[in-house]
Amino acid sequence: MAWRALGRKGICHGLTKTLMVKSKDSVASVSKCRYEESAKTLTASVRQLQGRRFTAFQGTDGNSSYLVKRCLIRCIHASPELLYRRGGDDSSGLKTSKRVNQNKGKFSKRNKETKPAVETPYVPPKLQRAAKSLPDKTIEIFEGMTIGELAKRCGESIATVQNIIINVGEKAESEFDSLSIDIAELVAMEIGVNVRRLHSVEGARILPRPPVVTVMGHVDHGKTSLLDALRQTSLAAKEAGGITQHLGAFIVSMQSGESITFLDTPGHAAFSAMRARGAAVTDVVVLVVAADDGVMPQTLEAMSHAKAANVPIVVAINKCDKAAANPERVKIQLASEGLLLEEMGGDVQVVEVSAVNKSGLDKLEEALLLQAELMDLKARIDGPAQAYVVEARLDKGRGPLATAIVKEGTLVCGQHVVVGAEWGKIRSIRDVMRKVIPKAPPATPVEIEGLKGLPMAGDDIVVVESEERARMLSEGRKKKIEKERLMKMDEERQKVEEDKMKAKEEADEDEEEKSDRVEVPIIVKADVQGTVQAVSDALKSLDSPQVFVKVVYSGVGPVSQSDVDMAQACGACIVGFNVRDLPSSISLSASQAKVKIILHRIIYHLLEDIGNLIVEKAPGTLETKVAGEAQVLNIFELKGRSKSKGEDVKIAGCRVMDGRLTKSSMFRLLRSGEIVFEGCCASLKREQQDVDAVGKGNECGLVIKDCLNFQVGDVIQCLVKVNRKPKFISSESGAVRIEC
Ligand code: GDP
Repeated sequence: MAWRALGRKGICHGLTKTLMVKSKDSVASVSKCRYEESAKTLTASVRQLQGRRFTAFQGTDGNSSYLVKRCLIRCIHASPELLYRRGGDDSSGLKTSKRVNQNKGKFSKRNKETKPAVETPYVPPKLQRAAKSLPDKTIEIFEGMTIGELAKRCGESIATVQNIIINVGEKAESEFDSLSIDIAELVAMEIGVNVRRLHSVEGARILPRPPVVTVMGHVDHGKTSLLDALRQTSLAAKEAGGITQHLGAFIVSMQSGESITFLDTPGHAAFSAMRARGAAVTDVVVLVVAADDGVMPQTLEAMSHAKAANVPIVVAINKCDKAAANPERVKIQLASEGLLLEEMGGDVQVVEVSAVNKSGLDKLEEALLLQAELMDLKARIDGPAQAYVVEARLDKGRGPLATAIVKEGTLVCGQHVVVGAEWGKIRSIRDVMRKVIPKAPPATPVEIEGLKGLPMAGDDIVVVESEERARMLSEGRKKKIEKERLMKMDEERQKVEEDKMKAKEEADEDEEEKSDRVEVPIIVKADVQGTVQAVSDALKSLDSPQVFVKVVYSGVGPVSQSDVDMAQACGACIVGFNVRDLPSSISLSASQAKVKIILHRIIYHLLEDIGNLIVEKAPGTLETKVAGEAQVLNIFELKGRSKSKGEDVKIAGCRVMDGRLTKSSMFRLLRSGEIVFEGCCASLKREQQDVDAVGKGNECGLVIKDCLNFQVGDVIQCLVKVNRKPKFISSESGAVRIEC
């Protein structure tokens, strides 16, 4: 069928590499074929044109009106090579660009003999200059921003941005052309800039939303117990007879109709992992302090985390049921740490609770709602959702599942989403009761199904217009992550090289000191993705100039046989955090394969174990120590010896004052505290007999090779080399490191 282009010339320009498909059926067949064919022949991607472009085309048969009405015109961007191969004339009536002509390719309408378009992975466009990575730079992008605006924000020239846009297969005529938010992100990624998506609130409903709360505090102060107690006050738990599965988050609904969303993973690791990915999910932190224990190192750590994230704190003084409870002391401690408590004139609310007796929970919930009211938490209800992953896991039957919290907009079943570097089409949305719901409004924790890969805690979820966009963005993000990973590896390698150089220089200066960096390969397994990340990061903090912790693999789930096989193959040890105990078959095969498996539920214990393993594997540093000291009492000279018997020698008659002198060691001669000579032992005798060592209090005759300079009263030190191993150091704040 024939197409003719109507309307503005500019419309044609963007289609220089475009084959058009005439109808809904054709679109379907193209999409299908794309899955079936090899990816080599065609660089293709299908995109939907924006409404304003539709009027530009009109088919000569009735099918085309369908496209016009339903806004379903689709274009396939083909490589110039493919167009060339296909040959044929430009019967579409569209102009071909210089680019295509230069390649001697001819633009043609697809005919029946030609092969249909095939699915190819998104091939990111090549920048004319080498792409530089600016991982620290983040720009805000929005739907409909102009090319000029994007170029300005990215700090690139308009020509460069236009080039990238054309390579992506979009129109880039002038700097005033507007872009979709997805294309803007693709361009920014190519340039190496991070993005924050802004969505217009114009005409959208903005309504109050529930607060999202994270519970933090010192170990054993009752965070998990408090979360359990709060969970049981939730409607979901009541309906489920008090039992709810751990989902990453839950909602507590009040009689007043208000509700609070709690993130279900206590502790700082999850909070830090989320923040590290830029996920500002938490609105309020509940700081749990045990009334009988008071402020402890991790209480302070939690305070500094909340402060750094600019998240307000509500204090829950827990274990108030205990006889030794002293809430007043806790308040004074907190105040002295700079927390401005309400009853002391500040704005931090304090509630006394008992997770075991379930007392004070209503007051805590009220305090959280009051805090939320003060913060005037509101969210846009309409429009595309912006959400964050709280937890992700792999379900055998349902594939990757992600617990997410929607921050803005509404997430709707069936939408295409990009989640971190993964993508998918939402197959189902379930609420905390595991009930299928059609959509999720802000601050609702939901479980989404339909992702192609497992995302990570803290990953953002963005809704995109089509599967193709989702694929392109996911590929682009993966490529960016890979590029950054390679850069980081390169930096690490450079650092290792520099460390080695430095160590070599030091070794040249002082030959006695020697250090070689060894690698400790580790496989990390944990219950949820957020913990995997947190444990891997924590293990990296044990890196030292002597030992380099290498996480060879990390994943969610229990330790499996394939983990053991991998560990055996690369000599790694397996670390399991919060995973279920090992089945006997795995324990047996691990012990047969001599694979060490360390399981823990407390991060400090885990780090301590790995720290000790590192110390064991570290080569250590050779150090010189004084093993014995002797004083010269007399000097004997052996002169006029024949050439065959060697040079003249001086024998120092000494008494060992401290330690031992050993013949195999080096000796140092000191006079008035100054080093006069250093050399190895030529002879050590006791009562005319050659001996290997002489102990404290004994007299001996010592000859130091080439030393003819003894004086009575000199001190001789016997030097030995000892290998000093690094030390595992843990500070009161819970921070750990290896000291070499
Ligand atoms: P987390 O490490 O902060 O998560 O602390 P847990 O929730 O695991 O609690 C540590 C210990 O404190 C457990 O033995 C709990 O039973 C106990 N515990 C927690 N809350 C209370 C409480 O309100 N009263 C009493 N008496 N014990 C509590």
